[in-house]
Formats: sequence, C-alpha cells, structure tokens
Amino acid sequence: MTSIALPENIDSLKAYSSAKSEKLTGTTWLNANESPYAKVYETCFDTLNRYPDPQPEAVIDAYSQYSGIDTDGVVMTRGADEGIELLVRTYCQPDKDSITIFTPTYGMYKVTADTHNVSINELSQQQLADASIAELVSAIGDSKLVFICNPNNPTGSIQPLQRIAQLAESLAKKALIVVDEAYIEFCEQQSCAPLISGLDNIVVLRTLSKAFALAGLRVGFMLSNPKLLAPIRKVIAPYPVSTVVAVIAAQALSADAITQMRRQVSILNVAKKKLISWLQESEIVKEIFSGEGNFVTLQLTDKCYVQIATQMGLIMRPFLLYGQDNWLRISIGNEQELKQVKSWLAVCRQAEEV
Ligand SMILES: *Cc1c(COP(=O)(O)O)cnc(C)c1O
Repeated sequence: MTSIALPENIDSLKAYSSAKSEKLTGTTWLNANESPYAKVYETCFDTLNRYPDPQPEAVIDAYSQYSGIDTDGVVMTRGADEGIELLVRTYCQPDKDSITIFTPTYGMYKVTADTHNVSINELSQQQLADASIAELVSAIGDSKLVFICNPNNPTGSIQPLQRIAQLAESLAKKALIVVDEAYIEFCEQQSCAPLISGLDNIVVLRTLSKAFALAGLRVGFMLSNPKLLAPIRKVIAPYPVSTVVAVIAAQALSADAITQMRRQVSILNVAKKKLISWLQESEIVKEIFSGEGNFVTLQLTDKCYVQIATQMGLIMRPFLLYGQDNWLRISIGNEQELKQVKSWLAVCRQAEEV
C-alpha cells in the first residue's frame, strides 16, 4: 500500500464546491448571498498573547439581547456551518443514526453527515410544505436531527412557525428540529426563536454572514434551551472564537450597528422587488422562486446565458435542480450590481433575437 487507507465514508467524499471555492474572475459578485455593504471596524489588540474567552461575554450578551434568548441559551460558533457540524457530532452516532433533510436545500447538511458517517433521510421541500404532520413524522422515521432551512436556500420558501411547532411537538423526545435561520433578518417576524422556551427539541442556527455583512469574519450562533446545549458545550473546541473575531462581532451587535443592518435589509428587500420585476419581464427566464431571502432563484430558458454573464464579469450561482442544469441563484447586491444584472438581461435578449 502506498498511501494510508481512508475510512470508506471519507474516501468517497466529493470536494464540496462552495460559491467561493471556484476560482472565477469577475467584477460583480452575486453568487454567495453576501451583503454588498462592507464596513470598517476598529481593531486594536494588546492581549493576543492570551487565549480568548471561549464564549466571549460581550458578544453573548449582545446576541442574547438581539435574539430575545437568555444568555445560557446562546452558543457562539465559527459560522453557522460549525453549528451544523456540532449538532451532527454531538447528537448522531456514526454508522447508526440519520438526519432528515428536505431537498433542494443547503449543501452543508449532507456534507457534514457524509464526513461523520451519518446517513441521510432525504425528503423533499414539497413534502415539507404539503404533507400532513402525521405523514411527515412517519417519513422522518427515527432520524435524530431534522434540518429545516427557513427561509430555504436556494428556493427561498418558508414554513410557518405554527407548522414547525407542531412538527417539533410530534417529535418530542425522538428528534431535534434544527431551524437554520441564516436569512431570517430578511423576514424577521418569521423567526422560530420564540418557540425555544416552550419546546424541548428545537435549535435555531444564526449567522453574521448574510444580513450582518460579515461573511469573512466567520461567526454564527446556536440558540436553544440550556439542557440541549449542555452536550454541545462539551464537544465544541476549547477556543472556537478568536479574540479578534469577538471584538469585531461585539461591534457588529451594538444597537447602532443593528439599526444599520435593519436599514440595509429594507434597502435590499426593495431592490429585490425591482430585480424580480425585471426577471418577470425577461424572455430568458422560465420560472422564478422569489422567496424570503436576499436572493432569487430562477430557471433560464437556456444555460448558455450564464456564460454571457461570466464574460461580462457578472458572477452568479448556476446549479442543477430537478435534474436540469439551467437554474441560477442571484444574490441581491447594491444598485450598481443589480444594474449589471439588468444589462445582462438586455444583452441576452439581443442574443436571442439574432
Ligand atoms: C450561508 C449559509 C450558512 C453558512 O453560514 P456561515 O455562518 O457563513 O457558516 C448556513 N446556512 C445556510 C442556509 C446558508 O445559506
């Protein structure tokens, strides 16, 4: 043997292709649901010789206040992605347990399960939206974790609070409902956080990567009841958040910064309506999922239009959906960036007329 043998589940992994892993060249980046609003943060450090606070108090306090969840129900993570991983590592036994996901959905649930040798019970977004609670409970079977991305990436669809509460109640003592609220700031009143106090089996995942415009910082939060978080606190790395990250995150969660974030969210939500109206008028667009996030997912009449965008320096996220490769997700950027999308639609239209 020339190399060290890998566990089977690791050997069969395909490299995860995130929006940023492909080396694309462009001028307008609307492929990773990032915020267009960069901000300058104060950074001055004279204590980097010391280990950081494992759960920085100022940040936990600020997020507790922002989310309405007591401080002992808040865990700070290295992005929501680490939250997903911690849940699988803590609550699933490899080679035995399964998680339920509703596809199409965020890719990291599957990647995390695969890397930990946890199997996947794949249900559909349609089932999640249309099946009765009893049917869902039966389809979920003995899965330990049920991931509900709300709003869902990439379809934007959202499940009503009441339905998630009913599902959680029906799965009490059997499974944990994980509500991934990466995009919840774009539809704030639909958060499941208020369900936490009344239910024993609900976890809400949050991030500073989207509405808070800090994808580069890598900060997420896990919200739940203290009992559910206790084992997570044993599994998490001893120092998951660097001092530098904690100082910036605390600034991002100040009252002023939250006001600014909300203002940006309303601007983006208005811009999204404008983008949707352009897409509705476009002849190269077959179907649109507008949804509740800071992105729009659409089906093109032909995937060749993606190449035209790339040639124009406009990077969006093409992907395969329902067996068809002509789908595209467009993140909501600033006015200038969306103008680029408008120009692209015009260029494609001309190309079509030729
Ligand atoms: C972007 C995204 C995340 C990742 O959040 P990070 O905090 O950047 O790790 C998690 N879930 C969904 C649905 C996302 O779209």
